[in-house]
Amino acid sequence: VSAASSEDKPGSGKRVAIVGSGVSGLAAAYKLKSHGVDVKVFESEGRIGGRLRSISRNDLIWDEGANTMTESEADVQNLLDDLDLREKQQYPLSQHKRYIVRNGMPVLIPTNPIGLIQSSILSTQSKIRIILEPFLWKKKNAPERPEDCAHESVGRFFERHFGREVVDYLIDPFVAGTSAADPESLSMQHYFPELWNLEQRFGSIIAGGIQSQFSARKEKRGDIRGSPEKGKRPLGSFSFEGGMQTLANRLCEKLGKDNLKLQSKVLSLCYSHDGKTSSENWSLVVASDKRHSRESSFDAVIMTAPLSNVKEMEITRRGIPFPLNFIPEVIYMPLSVIITSFKKENVKRPLEGFGVLVPSKEQNSGLRTLGTLFSSVMFPDRAPRDLYLYTTFIGGSRNSELAKASMDELKKIVTSDLNMLLGAEGEPTFVNHYYWSKGFPLYGQNYESVLKAIKKMEEELPGFFYAGNHKGGISVGKAISSGCQAADLVISYLNSASGEKAH
Ligand code: FAD
Repeated sequence: VSAASSEDKPGSGKRVAIVGSGVSGLAAAYKLKSHGVDVKVFESEGRIGGRLRSISRNDLIWDEGANTMTESEADVQNLLDDLDLREKQQYPLSQHKRYIVRNGMPVLIPTNPIGLIQSSILSTQSKIRIILEPFLWKKKNAPERPEDCAHESVGRFFERHFGREVVDYLIDPFVAGTSAADPESLSMQHYFPELWNLEQRFGSIIAGGIQSQFSARKEKRGDIRGSPEKGKRPLGSFSFEGGMQTLANRLCEKLGKDNLKLQSKVLSLCYSHDGKTSSENWSLVVASDKRHSRESSFDAVIMTAPLSNVKEMEITRRGIPFPLNFIPEVIYMPLSVIITSFKKENVKRPLEGFGVLVPSKEQNSGLRTLGTLFSSVMFPDRAPRDLYLYTTFIGGSRNSELAKASMDELKKIVTSDLNMLLGAEGEPTFVNHYYWSKGFPLYGQNYESVLKAIKKMEEELPGFFYAGNHKGGISVGKAISSGCQAADLVISYLNSASGEKAH
């Protein structure tokens, strides 16, 4: 993302509109600005960050959207370096201690083969099946036709390799914790593309995983020789002082307030190529403060609004409506995030670590939450010393109706679950609730058609690019990467003398 030198600013004088100030839109805008492009970000809400949303109140700091992120993508590493955010990065204490509930009690997730053998999460039969997967895995178990392989669910894929218990007690809580979905609705190829590819290449996931880790290490050793600091960074999840919003705020500072228009909902987009010039063809109609205004003369547009919002927009191409009825219906996971704090003396069995996930099966033990992050254990500056701060998730595909419940009902559920899991007694000293009606897009069986629709828009609308968590992954890191890639495509597009698309 490094800022280009003055003589190397290919985008100088060009203007790009970015719709949405989530992390993908802000990262795209920042990268374009670094290349000398004039950017304008339009955001329908009165705040920046989208699904990054940190609140600071009552001596507490919490996140209502993403709580942590990782930096596996090179774009993310470069961005954090460029933004001087390294000194604000916060790594959770004991982050590798993560728990899954079994028979109503949290059990530490094993992080190595010996831990797995000793753990009580799985039965002996499942443990043997995992160890023997490289030998027992048979090609004949896999779907025969390539199209069935492409449509296989996450649940079916892992069941074939490791058996049902692994799906119920490892995969189900993991996907609920990362996307509020369930293993049967998610597409393996699109939700876990790396693992899906391992099967395609090696058959066995374990053997393939070991082999590719081995070659990655070899590659990394080469990289470290080239850039010593990058190799030293701790791995894993992290946040920032002040929460995840710090990342959005820093991006916004670098962009400059004048390049950002809040409470500006984009209603329509118009591409009007007069045949003579290939620039300044885009204009947008934006609703702000009950007034509609036209924002004209953009050379390209990066759209990062959720596809359900794009579907509501009107697009005109050379004076003719460009209907968006080919965009498939995207299913979204509704989710409530409940923040509670308890006096430390009232939590009888506190746990060190990141958090606890609840498998669907454990609803039989009376638990109704998806999982809880031990927010102030991870980041002690998030609460006064005498309190524990917890972030609990309810809803998703498991309990979509419950996500909409009242704060009172949600508080009762959280209090009851935390009592069973951590021995939290009595009433919380603080409760807050945030409801996401469309928390996460589902990468389901129809995800291929979502990608096709995005491609069609990009191919048929010159200078239109799509980025964000509907494309290529739902994590913060993937959304940043998607924004940076869209910025690269825009730069090539702007550079191509003819104005024709560079892809
Ligand atoms: P968004 O953040 O959704 O941004 C899109 C923006 O577009 C929004 O600000 C919206 O207001 C705006 N917009 C929409 N329509 C219009 C319009 N017509 N005009 C103008 N603006 C418009 N990921 C992780 O890696 N780690 C986590 O711990 C994690 N936890 C999560 C917890 C929750 C509760 C949720 C909901 C998500 C979590 N995620 C997590 C996922 C991650 O936060 C998101 O995928 C990512 O932040 C999405 O960024 P984005 O820019 O693609 O979209």
